[in-house]
Parts: sequence; C-alpha cells; structure tokens
Amino acid sequence: MAKKFRNFIDGKWVDAASGKTFENRNPADWSKVVGTFPRSGSEDVDSAVRAARTAFDQWRLIPAPKRGDLLRKVGDIMVAKKEELARQMTREMGKVLAETRGDVQEGIDTAYYAASEGRRLFGHTVPSELSNKFNMAIRVPIGVAGIVTPWNFPMAIPTWKIFPALLCGNTIVFKPASDTPATATSLVEILLEAGIPDRVVNLVHGGGGEVGMAIVGHPDVDLVSFTGSTAVGKKISEVASNTLKRVSLELGGKNAQLVMDDADLDLALEGVLWGAFGTTGQRCTATSRLILHEKIFDKFLEMLVNRVAKLKLGDGLQKGVDVGPCVNEGQQKIVQSYVEIGLEQGAKLVAGGSIPKGKLLKKGWFFEPTVFSEVKPDHRIAREEIFGPVLSVIRTRSLDEGVRILNDTVYGLSSSVYTRDVNQAFRAVRDIQAGITYINAPTIGAEAHMPFGGVKQTGNGHREGGWTVYDFFSEWKTIYIDYSGGLQRAQIDNYDR
Ligand code: NAP
Ligand code: MG
Repeated sequence: MAKKFRNFIDGKWVDAASGKTFENRNPADWSKVVGTFPRSGSEDVDSAVRAARTAFDQWRLIPAPKRGDLLRKVGDIMVAKKEELARQMTREMGKVLAETRGDVQEGIDTAYYAASEGRRLFGHTVPSELSNKFNMAIRVPIGVAGIVTPWNFPMAIPTWKIFPALLCGNTIVFKPASDTPATATSLVEILLEAGIPDRVVNLVHGGGGEVGMAIVGHPDVDLVSFTGSTAVGKKISEVASNTLKRVSLELGGKNAQLVMDDADLDLALEGVLWGAFGTTGQRCTATSRLILHEKIFDKFLEMLVNRVAKLKLGDGLQKGVDVGPCVNEGQQKIVQSYVEIGLEQGAKLVAGGSIPKGKLLKKGWFFEPTVFSEVKPDHRIAREEIFGPVLSVIRTRSLDEGVRILNDTVYGLSSSVYTRDVNQAFRAVRDIQAGITYINAPTIGAEAHMPFGGVKQTGNGHREGGWTVYDFFSEWKTIYIDYSGGLQRAQIDNYDR
C-alpha cells in the first residue's frame, strides 16, 4: 500500500474536504508510488487561510529574535535529517543524490541566515527636520503569505520563501508542486518539530489551477510568493491584481554561457556540462544556450560532444549516475517535441536527441543529454525555455555580438562568461541583461545569502535570498515621535517663508 499523506490545516493532519486524492510516482521508475496525497480545493484553502489569519494575531507579537531561535532549530533538524531528506527528494523528483543533498543544504543555509536576521532586521532612524521630534522606520509583519512552489528545488525554494516570511512575523498557506508533495510534507513536519506553533503554517496539497488559484484569489491572503513558469506567473499577476495583494514572481529563464577565444577551455567545458545537464537541465538557471567564439567553435564543440556521450543516465540514487530522469512524462514529451522543432528549423543534432533504450531505463522518464549546433538566434530552441537536457550551440565573432545574442531573449535570469581578459569580463558584466552574471563559472550555483532573481519576463522586480527577500516579506512603518509639547508643522514651521 502506498503511504497516505495529508494536508496540515488549523493544527491538524486532515484529508481534502472532498476526500479526493492523487498519486505521485518515482520518475526513475514509475512502477514505484511515492504516496497518495489530498486533491484539495477552495474549501480546504478557505480553512487554511482562516487558521493562518487567527494565528497571525499571536505570531506577529513574538519577538523576531525568538522567531529566529525557532528557525535555528529548524536548521539543526535539517542537518540531522539531511541524508534522509535527500533520498526522499531523489525518489520523488529524480535528480541525483549529490544535487538533492545540495538542495537540502540550501535550506539549512537559509534557516541559519533567517535565525541571525531575527537579531538584525534593521530599520532606519533619520533626523527630523523639526526640533524635539524623532523619526524612524521599522519593518512590520504583513499577514497571511501564500506560498506556491515548483518541483525542481523541492526543499530549497519553499525554504527561501517560508523561512523569511516566518521570521518577519507572517503566517503561511503553502501549496507545493504536485510532483513533490512528500518533500513539502517533510518540511512542514520539521517546522512543527522545531516548535513553530500550530496554525502558523498550513499545508494544502493539490493542483495549481484549483489550490494555487484559490490562494492567489483569496481576499484574506495578503501576499503571494510564487516560483514557476512565466505563463502561470502572468495568470497569477492578473488574478492577484483584483485584491491588490503583493506578489513576488520568480519565473523562467533561457540562460546562456558565452565562451571567448581566450578562455580556459577545460574549465568552460566543466562549467557547461554542469550548467546544462545538472538536474537534467530542469533548473531555472540551467545553461540552455552555449555561445562560442568562432575561433574555438570547432575545437570546443568536439570536446563537448565527447564528454556528453560519456554522461551516465540513470536512477539518481545509484552511484556513478550523472543525469537523472525528467520529472514526469509531460516534461519528457516537451523535450522530445523541442528536438523535433530544432531539426525542422535546420539545427544540427550532434549528441543525444532520443528517449534512451535499455532495460534499466525503460520505466523512467529519461531523455538523452542532447546538443544542437548550428543553432541560429531566431530558432525556437534558442528562444523558448525547454526545461530539459537540451543545449543549443550558437556561433559568435566577438564579445559585443556574443553579449547581444545572450541578451536577445524575453528572459533575464542567469548568465555566464568565460574569458581570461579582465577588461572583457567587466564589459560583459556591465552590458549583460540578467539578474545574475558569473565570470568563469557556470550559470548555476546561487548562494543562499545573495540576492536571487531575474530581469525582464523572469520576474516582477523582487529578489529572493540574502537580505533582499526581507523587503518582500515585511512592510515599512514610518513613525514620528514629537516630544516638543506643541504642534509643529512640517515644511511650514521650520521655514520662514
Ligand atoms: P509551473 O507549472 O508554473 O508550476 C509552479 C507551481 O505553480 C506549482 O506548484 C503548480 O502546481 C502551480 N500552478 C500551476 N498552475 C497554476 C495556476 N493556474 N495558479 C496557481 N498556481 C499554479 O512550473 P513548474 O513546471 O512546476 O516549474 C518549472 C518552471 O519554474 C520553469 O519555467 C522554471 O524556469 C521555473 N522556475 C523558476 C525559478 C526562479 O527562481 N526563477 C526557480 C525554479 C523554477 P502543480 O504542480 O499542481 O501544477
Ligand atoms: Mg513524481
């Protein structure tokens, strides 16, 4: 019998009000069921929002350093359970164990950062323009935070949102991706074990269209933090505008690595292999385009194709496996269709391109690591997010042209340039339109204490991570204290005319 999971609403583990359920399977072997989960709807969301609203009145009054102490415990428990969590995540969404361990570590780092932020959470004091008057601005909690997350970082992304939201004094209604509900359940269990009070965190499983939309449209949800596709982000933005709630959107990417003719090619090769095929290419920051200077084009492509052929596909729990499966059948089909589109538009397939055969892989949603060369900047495989192990290689004649190609996309999340020339590196940093730029490192590798997010259609201007995420989860309150004993009129009494 598959393990049965529940929602956590109003301090209790409960089924969906309708009693409906859905199943989640291991993408490396779909004969293995991870569990069954409640297929919730808007009535479950209503209950969760009511509970979170009630809890807000108490939680907002707990001093931030104490909220931080609880988050430190959350981090400690995650350290103790790191291996167990990583294994559960690999079974649930397929990426290799080294990467799911990293995913948990990012959550741990985020917990400890939040714990220390509880003793900072700085405001400002500013001199008043009037005598005997004191001015300050402090951060205050906002209310109920709706958290909607994707499956590709099933631990890190929820922690990026939930930990700072809690630290700032907000309460939570959390809808995880339907592909990673077990990991989300483990996270909520850890929060409870650490002593986060009942009702402060509510977990509602179910589909995006039902549970996600019900959260976004709910008049009593004060803010929504969403990570996922640009298409869904646009819908969320529209629906949320009816209640003018605050919305943070972290969306898609079409990230490129540019390799100049003076680059350390071995280093650039390690970078692109990790950037393009890590997490089976299913990272928002994955390297999806490789822009090569014409002088090293043939040589680098040959080096790349040789190494791609050696990448080992398989179950991410097995030693020696480099690349796991796509997360589900739908994603595998999308990848397959982009290979067909690439061929139709005249790109040249130089590695992979198929669903692998072989006994060990036949029950999983695998796809061969794939490389296209002779890709033109206007080809669809150079423009649209594929979210799979497909790399499009484009030729450039110069740094300026390379940066132009790199910028020629509606997205702007991550970017990477390999060069040994410091002048070229800084020009690239200046001219690249992206939230993140790496020099001599791949497009992936964000650290939890740095701002994370993108420009253009990758987001709506907010940043997660580091100190910046605390701007989203708190509201500024401006306070004036007049101790003059008389009425002092700003802009009037302190000027003669
Ligand atoms: P997705 O389909 O947009 O789903 C993301 C989340 O939104 C899931 O929980 C999903 O629920 C929910 N959802 C779906 N439709 C919804 C709707 N109409 N209203 C409210 N919620 C809805 O994205 P995904 O396929 O899970 O993730 C891949 C995408 O995420 C890629 O585009 C990737 O670039 C992006 N991503 C961005 C970042 C970043 O920080 N910029 C990080 C990681 C991923 P269900 O699971 O139930 O469908
Ligand atoms: Mg699954």
